[in-house]
Amino acid sequence: MVTIIGSGIAGMCTAIALHQAGIPAEIYEQRKTTGDDAGGQAHLGLSRTVAIPALTALGLKDEILAGGFLVRQVEIRDHTNQVLNTFQAAPEGNVGITRAELYRILHTALEDRGITIHYRRALHHITPQDTGVRLEFRDGTRIHTALVVGADGLRSTVRAHISDSTPGVQGPEYGRWWYAHGITDHIDTPTPPDTFVVIRNQNTQHAFGYLTLSNIGTRWWLRIAAPARHTMIRPDNPADRAELENLAPNDTAATIIRNATIDMSSYNADCIPPDQPWTDQKHLALVGDAIHACIPSSSQNVPLAAEDALTLARALRDCDTQTIALDRYERMRRNRAHRALIAGNPANGIDAGPEYPIDWNTPITDHLATTTEQQYRMPTETASVP
Ligand SMILES: Cc1cc2nc3c(=O)[nH]c(=O)nc-3n(C[C@H](O)[C@H](O)[C@H](O)COP(=O)(O)OP(=O)(O)OC[C@H]3O[C@@H](n4cnc5c(N)ncnc54)[C@H](O)[C@@H]3O)c2cc1C
Repeated sequence: MVTIIGSGIAGMCTAIALHQAGIPAEIYEQRKTTGDDAGGQAHLGLSRTVAIPALTALGLKDEILAGGFLVRQVEIRDHTNQVLNTFQAAPEGNVGITRAELYRILHTALEDRGITIHYRRALHHITPQDTGVRLEFRDGTRIHTALVVGADGLRSTVRAHISDSTPGVQGPEYGRWWYAHGITDHIDTPTPPDTFVVIRNQNTQHAFGYLTLSNIGTRWWLRIAAPARHTMIRPDNPADRAELENLAPNDTAATIIRNATIDMSSYNADCIPPDQPWTDQKHLALVGDAIHACIPSSSQNVPLAAEDALTLARALRDCDTQTIALDRYERMRRNRAHRALIAGNPANGIDAGPEYPIDWNTPITDHLATTTEQQYRMPTETASVP
């Protein structure tokens, strides 16, 4: 039995992938339900070439397409609303989905597969033992397990325990951007249908992205380049709203913010550089934001979490020992995640590399691990982690 800590997107994807590999798993979650955090209505972009294939390999394609909405193109405008560039999505279009809907789909998939989530179980301590580790939760519960998957997000307790044996493991770094997002009903925006618009102010680097859907309204985010962390905005506070309007890159963005109706909130974008140990090579492994958090508007985090899940499950399925599986998993994922992190920061200018191989039936061998490792090497040595 594999023990997964955290029932976010990464934890739920890992449980589904392990089930697919015939490996039983259970999830332990500190909250009282799944997904009761901020940003439930935030729009997650799922690209047809990267995110959808990974979610398809998890057997979730139909549910994702039914629960999401189509995004046929991305239009980049300057602050005068002049269109600078238009990217056509793949022929069938990309998919947008709310965090709440993605959580609901993953949660239903767990129920259908009979996978248990133990709620109100906050992992506190990990003690190495001969045949695995002993986990101690804050409510006093203890369990013994052979493998712990830390899907416990930015401030991962499992990552902290890997650092006990590995000096230099780092916590989250402020990514030098903060975000506000919200929904605005009933507003006319100059937008072609099924188009995600990004308005950029070249002088300030602030950007505003929005998508208008006839049944839901306009979903938007405001991305602010800022050297220091920002305090959270309070949606009902007129001064906070006025501050956001002032930061908007143009009048279109300011009008949408002024009329925001529901679910307005903000957060600082924290990053986790993935150049640190992903496993202890014995009983602990990390997936998702716990080992690689990218800037949220980069749309890299969900596909990376699903790819982690699939790769770890395949490695455990195919390798002779757990130690070898954890080694292959890390070697196949580290460069890919590092490159996605750099590519996801709007201040850099590199692509995320080729699509990630997620052929579920191809066994993971040493050759595949080495090939994948090489494919995602950074093009230059000079690019830095944001
Ligand atoms: C508002 C918002 C908008 C976003 N927009 C995008 C986007 O557009 N595109 C994109 O790719 N990504 C986006 N992201 C990020 C994306 O949602 C995450 O990267 C993704 O959900 C993967 O997260 P995770 O499961 O690794 O971690 P999390 O979602 O942080 O889940 C970690 C889970 O572990 C639990 N946990 C933590 N510590 C313990 C403990 N000690 N014991 C037990 N349980 C514990 C937590 O309660 C939580 O449920 C956004 C995030 C937010 C908040």
